[in-house]
Amino acid sequence: MQGSGTFGVESVLTSVIGADEKLLICAKGAYGERMEDIVKHAGIDYTIYHEKYDRVPDAGKVNEILKNDPAITHVSMVHSETTSGILNDIESVAKVVKENGRTMIVDAMSSFGGVDIPVGEWGIDFIISSANKCIQGVPGFSFIIANKQKLIESKGKARSLSLDLYDQWETMNKDGKWRFTSPTHVVLAFYQALKEMEAEGGIPARHQRYVENNRLLIEKMKELGIRPYIDEEHQGPIITTFFYPENASFSFADMYQYIKERGYAIYSGKVTEADTFRIGNIGEIYKEDILKVSELIKEFLEQNR
Ligand SMILES: *Cc1c(COP(=O)(O)O)cnc(C)c1O
Repeated sequence: MQGSGTFGVESVLTSVIGADEKLLICAKGAYGERMEDIVKHAGIDYTIYHEKYDRVPDAGKVNEILKNDPAITHVSMVHSETTSGILNDIESVAKVVKENGRTMIVDAMSSFGGVDIPVGEWGIDFIISSANKCIQGVPGFSFIIANKQKLIESKGKARSLSLDLYDQWETMNKDGKWRFTSPTHVVLAFYQALKEMEAEGGIPARHQRYVENNRLLIEKMKELGIRPYIDEEHQGPIITTFFYPENASFSFADMYQYIKERGYAIYSGKVTEADTFRIGNIGEIYKEDILKVSELIKEFLEQNR
């Protein structure tokens, strides 16, 4: 589907949930909340299960919600919630969704390709990711892996013409073409990115590199007295949220600028209840980059005591 990752999520949510159907959103971050925004815009019936940003949605609670509300037909959830860096347990939630005979939709935007996901085995019906995260292509399209039967059943349900998932699939299936102007350069870059992933050793090797980046980063930050927001058990290998160092005069904007001028970019925090910043370690990032950034942060803190 042409567009950034959100277009893919919007395509699935607005194409596969019918007018008389209802969605349960498991949200615990900005991307889960964006799903709510999407269905509100489309006038799709929904309910939302909010979890604290540093906690994973509980499969038992999902089970309870599904048992108590037979109108719910679909459940959606983010895998790697990029807001915090937490890796949610989609396996146990998908299991409960299957047991209750509902449809499971996963936003795996920032994990697919960097974390192994046995999509069919776990019973995920629709999984969405984009060209520019762990696959390491350039931005411009998202892709959806779908349970074919459920995709076929969604025919005619789409609320949008350009985001009609079934129609896009049917057209591509017929003659291999995109319905509307294709993102040609992005497709070419994606092909190259897949070759590079293969050369690296596939998903296991990439996963390993990200995990090592992530562990080293957390270790280095701890040496500087900077603590991660997510506990070790739930921390994903993609991006890490850190609390501000305990120094009253700390300015994130100044630190950001200091690092940026020396060749790296980090992110501001996105969790609501604490002062945090984030460092992503996917893409062409290696051990030496992590050491370099850690050194820059150390220098900055020493100069700004
Ligand atoms: C990046 C991302 C998206 C999509 O964001 P876009 O800016 O539209 O590409 C959606 N969900 C998650 C979890 C993401 O990390």
